[in-house]
Amino acid sequence: MKDFFNNNFNPRPEDGLRIVSRCPVCQREHNPAETAILDEVDGAHLIYIKCKNCNSGVVATVSLGAMGISSLGAVTDLNSKEIMEVKDWGPINEDDVVDVYRGLSHPSAENA
Ligand SMILES: [Zn+2]
Repeated sequence: MKDFFNNNFNPRPEDGLRIVSRCPVCQREHNPAETAILDEVDGAHLIYIKCKNCNSGVVATVSLGAMGISSLGAVTDLNSKEIMEVKDWGPINEDDVVDVYRGLSHPSAENA
């Protein structure tokens, strides 16, 4: 019964914080070149960490709830300034996709 609960499919509580404590690309403990709290909404913080070792950037939300500290993060090639520029853009819609398609299909039309 103990093995059933200790298998690899059970997320460990520390997994949620791994992405902010250790670089997900080079696996080194973060000794960040840049750390920034970009935003705070209802106690949830949007943070940006840039790894000093491999220059990878991570954007993550960190929040404190009833179950403790949780985080959700992603590797990004954006810098902290670019994240601030795009964070309020909202979801991509059909018009955005068509604009990109037209721009790629007829690059000269963009400048016409
Ligand atoms: Zn790294």
